[in-house]
Amino acid sequence: MSTDNTKSSTQKDMDVGDPMAGQSLEGLARRYRELARQVVGIGFVSDGTLLQRTTLCGRPGCACRAQPPQRHGPYWQWTRKVAGKTVGKRLNAAEAALYQEWIANGHRLEAIVAEMRAISRQAIDLRLARARSAEILNTDSDKRT
Ligand SMILES: [Zn+2]
Repeated sequence: MSTDNTKSSTQKDMDVGDPMAGQSLEGLARRYRELARQVVGIGFVSDGTLLQRTTLCGRPGCACRAQPPQRHGPYWQWTRKVAGKTVGKRLNAAEAALYQEWIANGHRLEAIVAEMRAISRQAIDLRLARARSAEILNTDSDKRT
């Protein structure tokens, strides 16, 4: 039937903004478990960034100082901040490819954890509200006896 189309479009409009808004506690718990399963499959994670560097040396007459300069490299370098200071490690191409994957894994993990936190905030409110209403029901029945 064609009448179903209008209904699904209004539902989509409601979802704009917070995709988890208006979800039931069970729906949130399901999404949360799904994210937790994704975490299990993530490989090693790395922080920091990968960059390619070219360098100049001190050797007199080297092509790196010529006009136009032919700088050495490019070399892969992985850098990260340690206590406010940038530390680096030079890598070959194969190592750089591995780091690329580990850094991407790190970003994915952070995105998943951020969503788990957002879901938890909503689920916690619903869970507490449920516990409170159960408590009210219990005190009501206590009064009766
Ligand atoms: Zn040079």
